[in-house]
Amino acid sequence: MDFGLTPEQREFAENVERFALRELNDDLIGRDHEGVFAAENWRKCADLGLLGLPVPAEYGGLDADATTTMVVLEALGHGCRDNGLLFSLHAHLWAGVSPVVRFGSPEQRRKYLPAMCAGELIAGHAMSEPGSGSDAFGLTTSLTRRGDNYVLNGSKTFVSNAPIADTLLVFAVDERRRGFAGVSAFLVDRDTPGLTVSRPISKMGLRTSPMGEVHLDDCLVPASALLGPEGAGMSVFTWTMERERSFILATALGTMRRDLERCVEYARTRKQFGQPIGAFQAVSHRIVDMRMRLDAARLMLHRLAWLTDRGEPAKTEAALAKVYVSEAFVQSGLDAVQIHGGYGYTTEFELERDLRDAIASRLYSGTSEIQRNLAAHQMGLTPRGTGK
Ligand SMILES: Cc1cc2nc3c(=O)[nH]c(=O)nc-3n(C[C@H](O)[C@H](O)[C@H](O)COP(=O)(O)OP(=O)(O)OC[C@H]3O[C@@H](n4cnc5c(N)ncnc54)[C@H](O)[C@@H]3O)c2cc1C
Repeated sequence: MDFGLTPEQREFAENVERFALRELNDDLIGRDHEGVFAAENWRKCADLGLLGLPVPAEYGGLDADATTTMVVLEALGHGCRDNGLLFSLHAHLWAGVSPVVRFGSPEQRRKYLPAMCAGELIAGHAMSEPGSGSDAFGLTTSLTRRGDNYVLNGSKTFVSNAPIADTLLVFAVDERRRGFAGVSAFLVDRDTPGLTVSRPISKMGLRTSPMGEVHLDDCLVPASALLGPEGAGMSVFTWTMERERSFILATALGTMRRDLERCVEYARTRKQFGQPIGAFQAVSHRIVDMRMRLDAARLMLHRLAWLTDRGEPAKTEAALAKVYVSEAFVQSGLDAVQIHGGYGYTTEFELERDLRDAIASRLYSGTSEIQRNLAAHQMGLTPRGTGK
């Protein structure tokens, strides 16, 4: 593995960080409190090309390789403190845009990708249901063939971007062929009769990223809405999850780096008992541990990017990185609050928000427990991996 970045990668990352610092942090405490998505900032990200990072240039994307994408996303996370906006961007990019690049027909790519890159069309991913989360393939949303169309019925929950989405990637199962082979994926436009979205679900963190329930009530979609062939839903889903797990925490590297820098600065300047608190070993060791976690997290994600760029399988590496980086993110968030004492617990210091935002990372895109199950299965320890 080559850890050196090209001058172009470095310059791109620096530009993105400057842009994020300048444009994406307005009224964040207020927006977090109210749970408001920054639509204007989304458009600014689109103008910079960030909503089309992995998309081929012919469809309006930047065609960035995986390593460039990883570096740029860390820079974005370092400059942008709005983790909710970044989470919506990830949900759009990895669970909506990327599967269209990978599995879309030429017509679907032409229809969706340019508008998705331009920020005119927001994507979401609707797999989880009230009764099936980790056991994703226990879904009950049904598909029934009717002539040249399909009829979808069921309910999805925890759908990121749903309240603002224009297109949802919906997974449904053929009741006559229950199980993996019966699952298909559909690109369903928001205005399709029979599709309704609930009001936003309020949550602990990532509050500026809207989440909702999606209800499909005799929702009639044309066969042209199928993403991949009928019955290929499992392949679409597993590929998408692996890709999402590989990149969704790249911006967390930036957040962890920002919080680490703040802790170093605070420990150097905050005095108690007549000396900077950083002179107390209990504080300095905590900060060194934050640094160690950040370095290890970055190495794991860069290895994933390197494997992705070489077209090599990275299923186990993606699961391991997802567990490690999300748990490091939460632990370092706790440490940052602890180092700042009572101030760390205040809204004004903006560390408690990073911690609340970090906790979700152990749940979305497959929980830590499920990633460990997947890795155990890949290592030949268990006969069958359970979950996503
Ligand atoms: C912020 C956020 C955004 C999300 N965005 C989306 C989205 O856009 N689209 C979407 O479809 N879903 C989304 N989800 C849903 C997410 O994928 C699920 O929450 C997750 O897969 C877990 O499912 P569950 O919540 O039903 O928990 P459950 O599956 O009920 O699990 C509950 C607990 O049991 C544990 N558990 C379950 N099975 C096992 C097992 N076999 N071995 C060990 N432990 C087990 C879990 O790890 C967890 O700790 C999002 C979730 C969050 C928090």
